Amino acid sequence: MFGKTIKDAPKDEVATNAKLLIRAGFIRREVSGVYNYLPLGIRVLNRISNIVREEMNAIGGQELLLSSLQNKESWETTGRWNSFDALFKLTSVLDHEYPLGPTHEEVVVPLAKQFINSYKDLPLAVYQIQTKFRDEKRAKSGILRGREFLMKDLYSFSTDVDQHEDFYNKVAEAYKKIFHRMGIGDRTYMTRASGGSFSKFSHEFQCLTEAGEDTIYITDEGKKEAVNKELGEDGGEGMRAVEVGNIFTLGTKFSDPYLTFKDEKGESHPAFMGSYGIGPARLMGVIAEAFSDDKGIVWPKEVAPFRVHLISLGQHSVLANRVYEKLVALGIETLYDDRDLRAGEKFADADLIGIPTRVVIGDKSADTETLEAKERNSEEVRNITLEQLLNELKG
Ligand code: ATP
Ligand code: MG
Repeated sequence: MFGKTIKDAPKDEVATNAKLLIRAGFIRREVSGVYNYLPLGIRVLNRISNIVREEMNAIGGQELLLSSLQNKESWETTGRWNSFDALFKLTSVLDHEYPLGPTHEEVVVPLAKQFINSYKDLPLAVYQIQTKFRDEKRAKSGILRGREFLMKDLYSFSTDVDQHEDFYNKVAEAYKKIFHRMGIGDRTYMTRASGGSFSKFSHEFQCLTEAGEDTIYITDEGKKEAVNKELGEDGGEGMRAVEVGNIFTLGTKFSDPYLTFKDEKGESHPAFMGSYGIGPARLMGVIAEAFSDDKGIVWPKEVAPFRVHLISLGQHSVLANRVYEKLVALGIETLYDDRDLRAGEKFADADLIGIPTRVVIGDKSADTETLEAKERNSEEVRNITLEQLLNELKG
């Protein structure tokens, strides 16, 4: 396997998520705030992205892929070439200047202008899952705050505020599903925050974690609602949280006067917009921190890099090979540790990597044709037959 576990994280890495993920062989740092994803890491990131993709498709979002090298003129038009403080500006050898995409309103609005003419074209929603670049001042939170990071950004175009609000509410419900599917639904709060160019408020989805940079006040535990402390409202006992997603009413800030449509009477209006972000890389870090113990990570099944961690001990590779082939044939994703190492070392690696089910083929298995199965989140070791194991996993 490309990527190995290590005993100690680099000394200058302070964030828990980065320490865990580096030790377990999921990521490696390139420069401050920039990480490489190793084979285990990209599997988790893809799992997270696919959950997001499925739920965005389910509400009618259409996926596309916008450029990272953007058009300077568009950023001058919106005034953000000079006002977006984390913008990376590139000067090419041909002496052209480019903004390196930190967000995509400047790309998506001119593009949408080519396809939106009439009220019959609306509502419309497009999204992408793509690498963003931001020159973040503080980049000490591992993959929670990168200078290069994956983001899902969706942009909606509506005729008016009512049509917009319908879609906004659909996205809010889709976000709740996404965070539930990833295992963090019970600790993620839809949080009222400042911002929104039309509305007074935007909504952030804040996940409780000690590593968070935000403080929220929970206003309704049952409905999972909160308010961000930055609003100045004192809701009592504050909780540390990190923003894993947000939904934002843009109104006509980016569309007026460029992106207009004709209503039933033939009159022109600017399209009413919203933008909606989720950070898959940040989520991976949040989940790794939230689900870990002193031995390593404990991935929820839905985002785990593999379903099964198969370990062969001693001279039992023939039986282990057979089990591996059965698992693969059934489409059960399996990491197979057939290294010639002591049991203790293999078990420690399995705990560190955090795959949900560990299956061990050792001396007992050879005699009795049973396997040792253990869930990462439990201490119980069970002796079961291969058939039993396969039935459980198929379920
Ligand atoms: P923050 O306040 O944490 O900087 P933001 O308000 O800049 O976030 P957006 O620009 O709306 O966030 O980005 C959408 C989503 O992308 C965020 O909710 C978060 O999940 C993720 N995100 C934003 N910045 C980063 C970053 N530097 N590294 C990783 N993920 C990020
Ligand atoms: Mg930011």
